[in-house]
Amino acid sequence: MEYVIEPKRKTPVLLETDVLVVGGGVAGCVAALAAARTGVQVTLIERNRHLGGFFDTRPGSGEMYGGLVLQDGKGNWVSKGIGWEIIKRLVSVGGAIPMIKRKVKSNHPKLPLDTPNSKYGPFIDYETLKMVLFDMMGEAAVRFILYTFGVGVIKKGNVIEGVFTETKSGRDVILAKVIVDATGDADVVSWSDDPFDKSPPEKLYQIQGVLFVGGINTAIVKSQIKNHLEKNDYAYVITPESSEEIPERFEQKQIHMVLSAEGFEVSDDNLTVRKRTPGSASILSTGMRPCLGRLGAGVSGDGTNVFDLTRAEVEIRRAITQKLDKLRRTDTAYKDSYILPPVHPLGIRETRRLVGEYVINEDDIKNGAQFEDVVAKGHISFDHHYPDGSLEHRMPTKAYDIPYRALLPQNTKNLVVAGRCISCTHKAQAALRKVPVVLATGQSAGTAAALSVQYQCSLRDLDLQVLRRALRKDNHIV
Ligand SMILES: Cc1cc2nc3c(=O)[nH]c(=O)nc-3n(C[C@H](O)[C@H](O)[C@H](O)COP(=O)(O)OP(=O)(O)OC[C@H]3O[C@@H](n4cnc5c(N)ncnc54)[C@H](O)[C@@H]3O)c2cc1C
Repeated sequence: MEYVIEPKRKTPVLLETDVLVVGGGVAGCVAALAAARTGVQVTLIERNRHLGGFFDTRPGSGEMYGGLVLQDGKGNWVSKGIGWEIIKRLVSVGGAIPMIKRKVKSNHPKLPLDTPNSKYGPFIDYETLKMVLFDMMGEAAVRFILYTFGVGVIKKGNVIEGVFTETKSGRDVILAKVIVDATGDADVVSWSDDPFDKSPPEKLYQIQGVLFVGGINTAIVKSQIKNHLEKNDYAYVITPESSEEIPERFEQKQIHMVLSAEGFEVSDDNLTVRKRTPGSASILSTGMRPCLGRLGAGVSGDGTNVFDLTRAEVEIRRAITQKLDKLRRTDTAYKDSYILPPVHPLGIRETRRLVGEYVINEDDIKNGAQFEDVVAKGHISFDHHYPDGSLEHRMPTKAYDIPYRALLPQNTKNLVVAGRCISCTHKAQAALRKVPVVLATGQSAGTAAALSVQYQCSLRDLDLQVLRRALRKDNHIV
């Protein structure tokens, strides 16, 4: 690679803060909220126009598959804390239906597995989530700055003094006592010269793009579904776990989702309609919004390589456009349908992973490993989305611990990592990148960051008892 030497420059200090969170996905938001609630000054920077990161990607429809699973399927909470608070807040404004239980009515061999993972999880309206996150940040006095790209660090010895930012206002630096890397891509880790790992492009889990489709004729979809059900007696039904938790506007109607193995998933009561044309499209409405179509496509590539990102945008849009063209020609329900404006950039599953003081591996997750320095827990499945588009889904047998060491880099003393880029192997990341774990590591990282400011010690020297006490006080499960 060729290089040029940039001229020396004077960079303005944009602001100073106790804790700086880089990245406003769910991990970063929860980290910022957790830190701010301890009373320290918190700043969060996000390059996009909204908070919530990739988690926001299924607006309007609400989505539960894989879903946001906070329990172990037997009713035991694995992850709660600020993540659950966000969901309750969403429920209060009609933006979520909390815990949903699926009941299998059929013994059809092709039906999805009746795993604990697929049984419990809330429906979420992702557009409402964006506003709720803005509100919660404001209430906790987190200073969040959008359209701000973190681009490097200024470091003295083992301590990061600040993060350089690029915005429409120019290049600045934010000085901070402690940094949380919640970029999903371990950007800060890479700038601070701490060890990280990244699978080769041909192994990285698939990049996924999703576009939503409007103008679908729901009446036609419903009659297609009715016909289908007349010929097939198998079904899959979703009912609320507890009627007390269902907001009034949903109480009137039972939430029923009926799903056939051939690709139709439907409602018998207008509330949830889902039709999936195998490999191409799905329509889902939870009653929170009108029926939307959702078309997705995946490609292989490296989400930290700008040429791969550009190719992925083009290939994914082309694939989705072709799918919709075909649907318009072959399915009357789609005759007048159109692609809606995108709500989110590409879904990046895996890029850089921290190589921290401990690297969580596949067996730790499979066997429900326990660690003395546990700061979060998970019970969510491995979803191996291979680059060729194939998917392998496996459940762990029991809940597993996330050790504090997996959030700490090897060298830098005032940096902690949260979210999908914590220290783990490629295979382990297929489970650890899921939202419940990401929420939990966000809370641990944010709380640790704030306590290290308060106790004026390095993150590594933080008393784990003190950290865990603070986490439990905030309803976090450790
Ligand atoms: C297609 C797809 C489907 C999924 N389905 C499920 C599911 O059903 N259930 C489940 O539990 N999980 C699912 N996941 C996984 C889950 O959604 C993500 O792994 C999780 O949301 C990651 O959260 P995060 O906060 O760690 O990272 P991200 O959501 O990636 O957030 C990182 C944030 O940091 C910002 N950022 C990055 N770099 C910088 C920088 N240098 N400066 C400033 N800002 C920066 C980004 O803009 C982003 O907002 C899915 C993922 C994909 C891609």
